[in-house]
Parts: sequence; C-alpha cells; structure tokens
Amino acid sequence: MPALSKGRTKVVVLGSHGGQQITRLTGSHLRCGTSLAIEVDGEVTVVDCGCGSVHRLVEAGYDADQVRTVLITHCHADHVAELGSLVGFAWSSGRNGADPDRRLDVHGPTGIADYEAGTKLALRRSIADQEGPLAQVPTFDAFAAWHEIVPPREPVTLIDRPELSVRAVRVQHGAMPSLGFRVATSDVDVAISGDRGAGRDGFAAFAAGADAIVHEVIDRPLVRGVLEGQGTAPSFIDHLVDDHTDAPDVGRVATEAGVALLVLYHLIPANPGIDDQRWIDLVRPTYDGEIVVAHDLQVL
Ligand SMILES: [Zn+2]
Ligand SMILES: [Zn+2]
Repeated sequence: MPALSKGRTKVVVLGSHGGQQITRLTGSHLRCGTSLAIEVDGEVTVVDCGCGSVHRLVEAGYDADQVRTVLITHCHADHVAELGSLVGFAWSSGRNGADPDRRLDVHGPTGIADYEAGTKLALRRSIADQEGPLAQVPTFDAFAAWHEIVPPREPVTLIDRPELSVRAVRVQHGAMPSLGFRVATSDVDVAISGDRGAGRDGFAAFAAGADAIVHEVIDRPLVRGVLEGQGTAPSFIDHLVDDHTDAPDVGRVATEAGVALLVLYHLIPANPGIDDQRWIDLVRPTYDGEIVVAHDLQVL
C-alpha cells in the first residue's frame, strides 16, 4: 500500500469527522473533528483543529511544544474549534526552561485575524498573569505569529524550507474563504482539500503530481435524504450537499490529478453504520488507485 509516512516524515490522522461532532463508533472508538498531524524530525505541523484534536495530538504521542506550524483551511467551527486551545497549550507547554526564540506560526484564510483577536480577548487575564507575575517566556505575542491570507486563485508559497514546503490555493466552499494546501516534506508531497464543493475551483490541477490527496467526502444522496426527513433547514442542507464533494466527484478529482493514493477524511456522515467498504465502493467507479478511509490516530 502506498504510504505517506516514510523517511523522516510521519502523517497521523488526529480527527476524521466532518462537522461539529464527535461520533462514537464501536466500543471506545471515536471520530473526532477534522485534524491532521505531519511530523518531520520531531517538529509537527497541524492541519485544522477540530473538536477533540488537542486530545488526539497527545494520544498520538506528541507534546504540544512540538507543534511549530498550524495550517487552517477555513474558519468553520469544525476546523477551528480547538485552535485557541492548541495555541495556548503549546505556549504553556515549554515554559520551564523554554527557548525564548521558540515560536508557533498559524496560517489561515480571511477570518483567522478575527480568531486571533477573539482568542487574545478570551485569554486576556490569563495571558496578563502568565506574562506578568508568572514571567512566562516568550510572551504570547512573541510565541504565536498569525498569518492571514486572502485565498488566492493562483497558488502561493507559505513556507519554503528544505524539510517543509507549504503552498496554498483558494478552494470553493460556499461563501466561506477557504484554502487547500500542498505540503511537501523531504519524503512526501500531499495535497489536502479542506472543505470544498467539486468542480468550481482549481484544486485538481493544484494537486497534480502529488503523491496523494487527502480529500473531504460526503455521501450526498444519503445526507440529503436523512436531513430532509428530519425537517432540517433547506439552506443548511444545500450548504452540506453543494459545498462538499460527493464521493464520485472525489474520485474524479484524484483521477484528474493522477495521484496513486486517495485518503478520504472529513467524512459526512461519520455514521458508525457506514463502514470503510461503503466509502470505497462509492468512490471506486471514478478512481482506480489506492483508497484509504481515514480513522482517528491512523498513521497514513
Ligand atoms: Zn468542515
Ligand atoms: Zn466548512
């Protein structure tokens, strides 16, 4: 099976659920909100911070102090629910004997500056105490550098280091400013969709030549049928089915991009009654490469 974890790189699913929920599967298994960890030589890049992702980070064996980069695809709550928690946790985790130059970079689309401001407001008293009487170094502002990007139609480079390069491009996700990422380490090159509706942006071209795509997926007919039966607001049903990618379209994107491996994540629904084979069967008619259905804490 093609793998993303090789050489100095390890890619771990922290949360595989789409939407603001944590779903119980069987026994003690859960699906937490969307999040990925990409580790290179002990330094971790976290992509999105859905509900439960901080807990999952520790379960995956990482200390928050190892997180040096956070990439946010967009500011829907299921992608930023624990961003403030992660930043605060990472700031505090190295406080004893920490390198005063250590720093966390948060990259996100339009809206991330509001999240930054809100986080600082919510944590104002704690930050004042930690920086003041508790003399924590570096200061919160010196520790966390926030970078807001207007989603670009043509890819832009966010990080360009030998061991880690990150590019971003606008993806279409309703009215929400949203990014797809292409993350390349010295070992692997992976395109990450974030949330997007298929066919109205350039993500497939952006992903061409990557080793793999990690793509969101929705079972569109199933979701529409269930929600209409529940009397859900039509505007929300339309958002779910129009602004996310139906399984056959995910296969078409992977085929067009020419990747050997497709990882399905941000599953909608993450119903415990839907097994991996069902997702694979939905995608298979339009893609003949390797398909992996993400589970929490899975090493890809
Ligand atoms: Zn989402
Ligand atoms: Zn979204």
